[in-house]
Amino acid sequence: MTFDDSDEKFAVMRRGVTAVLEDDNSGHDMGHIDRVIALAERFCDELDQDVDAEVVRYAALLHEVDDYKIVGKEKSGEYANMSKIMSDAGLNLEVQDRVREIVSTMGYSKSLRGIRPKSIEGWVVSDADMCEAIGASGTLRAFQYAISDKGSGVIFDKNIWPEVDISAETYNSSGTTHSTDSFVNHHFEKLLKLKGMMLTEPGKREAGRRHVTMREFLQAFFVEQNAPEWEKFLEIFEKERNSAT
Ligand code: ADP
Repeated sequence: MTFDDSDEKFAVMRRGVTAVLEDDNSGHDMGHIDRVIALAERFCDELDQDVDAEVVRYAALLHEVDDYKIVGKEKSGEYANMSKIMSDAGLNLEVQDRVREIVSTMGYSKSLRGIRPKSIEGWVVSDADMCEAIGASGTLRAFQYAISDKGSGVIFDKNIWPEVDISAETYNSSGTTHSTDSFVNHHFEKLLKLKGMMLTEPGKREAGRRHVTMREFLQAFFVEQNAPEWEKFLEIFEKERNSAT
């Protein structure tokens, strides 16, 4: 897949996105956006079916600007930032609708409510965004989030076990954190599940590689922390997930 690097609309929108995300310190920065775009481009290349590259690129660029962690729960569903950025760039209305449809159906908390993207373009962007949450960079982002003003501030507490089958209500219960929340527990409450939520073959392959990195990190961490009960917990968690998929 090739993109037109002189895409003026993309450049205008990227400036708009930068302005919205510039104060964020919880892992929603332009580095994240650019990596999601690059992964989504690669997935399009690896797919042997037609994908609208422009819609993929625009949705990847705009997927965070109305996130509830950025604008708050009340405003999140209005997609006001995204709509303004797209219309300032003069995007045609049909493309705007397709981008809005993708962004409004992706993300882990929406998936807990049974909402998933429906188009191939949406599958690609969703897989790229979820892959960005896992692997070595995913673990670093989770750490960054945990110590940010939105996170729990807890890295690991041997006595607080994760709520493995967490509901959407609990996940967002205190705005951006909840009672069992910690850097380590976030792996069990979200990150280790993402491999099984991929919607495209390239996404599944990439998520498989990143999953191994995370599991090895956690295994080593639990050994270093003298936490054999957590080593066992990880082993059982993985066994149950693998037999379910
Ligand atoms: P994404 O950008 O992947 O849709 P979010 O907006 O929910 O994810 O969060 C941004 C990043 O912070 C992600 O990598 C995510 O896994 C991580 N994160 C979200 N919630 C927590 C949490 N409670 N503890 C640790 N990391 C978190």
